[in-house]
Amino acid sequence: MPSDSVKKIAVIGGGAAGFFAAITAAESDPEAEVTVYEKGNAFLTKVKVSGGGRCNVTHSCFDPTELAKRYPRGSRELRGAFHRWQPQNTIAWFAERGVTLKTEPDGRMFPDTDSSQTIIDCFMKAARDAGITLRKGMPLKTIAVSGNGFHLTFGDGSEAAVDKLCIASGSLKASPLTSAIENLGHSIEPLAPSLFSFNVTDPRTEGLAGLSVQSATVRALPKSPPQTGPVLITHRGFSGPAILRLSAWEARTLQAQDYRFEISINWLGNSRPEQLRSTLASLRADSGKALIKNRIPGDIPRRLWERLTEISGISPETQWSQLPKEKENTLIRELTEGRFEVQGKTTNKEEFVTCGGVRLKEIDFRSMESRLVPGLHFAGECLDIDGITGGFNFQAAWTGGHIAGLAMIT
Ligand SMILES: Cc1cc2nc3c(=O)[nH]c(=O)nc-3n(C[C@H](O)[C@H](O)[C@H](O)COP(=O)(O)OP(=O)(O)OC[C@H]3O[C@@H](n4cnc5c(N)ncnc54)[C@H](O)[C@@H]3O)c2cc1C
Repeated sequence: MPSDSVKKIAVIGGGAAGFFAAITAAESDPEAEVTVYEKGNAFLTKVKVSGGGRCNVTHSCFDPTELAKRYPRGSRELRGAFHRWQPQNTIAWFAERGVTLKTEPDGRMFPDTDSSQTIIDCFMKAARDAGITLRKGMPLKTIAVSGNGFHLTFGDGSEAAVDKLCIASGSLKASPLTSAIENLGHSIEPLAPSLFSFNVTDPRTEGLAGLSVQSATVRALPKSPPQTGPVLITHRGFSGPAILRLSAWEARTLQAQDYRFEISINWLGNSRPEQLRSTLASLRADSGKALIKNRIPGDIPRRLWERLTEISGISPETQWSQLPKEKENTLIRELTEGRFEVQGKTTNKEEFVTCGGVRLKEIDFRSMESRLVPGLHFAGECLDIDGITGGFNFQAAWTGGHIAGLAMIT
């Protein structure tokens, strides 16, 4: 609807995706008038607390197909998008602005400073240099299509007429924007929390909080695909990368079960019961006189091993040669398929996201533009996209923000 030739662009949400979209648009078309409208009193608040205050910016995975596999929702759509903007581009983008990232052994990437403030400072400077108008305390209320553009109204009663609109409002959980988006004809996939720990009270782990097993395999019964990786025993139950990954892949199923379900843990990773049986047979043959408690058949902490032998009815003085068959069977079961009742979940403070959001079929991922409303773009967590923990959620925000930002000025 705006008449003059200067393009007016509104970005809704001063978070990760919104800043990336706004900066990309404003740097690519210095003539464009780009405004970020943020409902809160501060920008980039999630970036601030992200990664425990260190900001896990991205992940050192540079193959778009491999990278896309880290997204329980959005994998297919992101594969193409990552060919346009992927972690290598993110790393270079920050480096060009003087922010270098380092890689941890598990692939997570953080600013060298280990401080999310570095990322915030970088964005604020880039936004300032690009002439972006930043407006706080401006919750978007309504969106009306008006000619070739949009008419927007905000919480304080003010209005704006723009040519292009990018919604980057983050999670739609309890968001008043949901109805404004639906009124434009878009559908919202059901929302559910993702990336949470499991609450378990069980004598097998009582008093063992703080122990972690580097490579355990966890499944939600009856039939979720297994997740292998570190599992941490906490005061409330289980956490760690393998548990968080399971919570992400099964987010909708576990929500439907009201977070009451059974899991099976193989403390020895992918070791099968038959393999373990032959390992125990060798121990009996080669170290028959050794105490069971002193020979651990795998990479698990001593205190957990002692607890599992105790639970299996094996006294601390038992030697390998004295292990009765039925106790051996119990021990094998406890080690390779220990079953635990989960009763509830706990938010993972380091990183959590909402699964669900704007239906992906309604978005053209080459431009992040709505297939229903020309000129309307989406980026970030408001879409039905979420990744496992490790920097993948921010990468999706940078990728969507970059593609939307470029598309809005062409
Ligand atoms: C504690 C925590 C730690 C995390 N750590 C990491 C991490 O280290 N690495 C990682 O990859 N991911 C992390 N995540 C996930 C990551 O923060 C999100 O995936 C990412 O912030 C999504 O970006 P976004 O721009 O879509 O949404 P947000 O960053 O949430 O930004 C959306 C913005 O829109 C604003 N808004 C909402 N509605 C309106 C409205 N009506 N009008 C105007 N403005 C509006 C909000 O106030 C907000 O500022 C973490 C999440 C949490 C909660």
